[in-house]
Amino acid sequence: MENFNIKILVVDDSSTMRRIIKNVLIKLGYKNIVESDDGLNAWEKFQKDKFDIVLTDWNMPTPGLDLVHKIRFKNKDIPIIMITTEGGKREVIIALKAGVNNYIVKPFTPIILKEKLKEILI
Ligand SMILES: [Mg+2]
Repeated sequence: MENFNIKILVVDDSSTMRRIIKNVLIKLGYKNIVESDDGLNAWEKFQKDKFDIVLTDWNMPTPGLDLVHKIRFKNKDIPIIMITTEGGKREVIIALKAGVNNYIVKPFTPIILKEKLKEILI
């Protein structure tokens, strides 16, 4: 059974992309969504609040990969999905090594996000 009350942190420096991701999440039934426009800002939010999953972009002033390293140092278990234009094999490997649980390459369809979430949350 899916828990639609989980708290999701969406990190992307593009407000358009955050809106797209948020709209998909809302359509899927999730309501508890917090946005952040940069890795640094997201890290501050992460330290103050309790999240159940993090969806993060890679390319931001403070990169998503730095955020992943910091989160993993503090929390080994929280699921992290990277949503990025960096679709190369090398980047995927780097992200997975940093502790990302799943990887989505932009542009993506709502179905892809749904499936990746399902793989992690169920
Ligand atoms: Mg970006």
